[in-house]
Amino acid sequence: MAYTITDKCVSCGTCEGECPVSAISQGDTQFNIDADACIDCGTCASVCPTDAIIA
Ligand code: SF4
Ligand code: SF4
Repeated sequence: MAYTITDKCVSCGTCEGECPVSAISQGDTQFNIDADACIDCGTCASVCPTDAIIA
């Protein structure tokens, strides 16, 4: 079960640089997590200012 970025994302980019496996990338309307690459560490969720990332 990978982490997911919801529509509360404001595309600040903070999470992208914190992911240890570079699973986060910028999409057309928000940032996205590659579910196959995510190792469920939770770091992105802890740094997101809008609590847009859920487990
Ligand atoms: S939970 Fe960890 S591995 Fe998964 S996207 Fe967030 S920072 Fe990356
Ligand atoms: S830290 Fe949160 S608001 Fe910022 S790009 Fe990541 S998911 Fe979106």
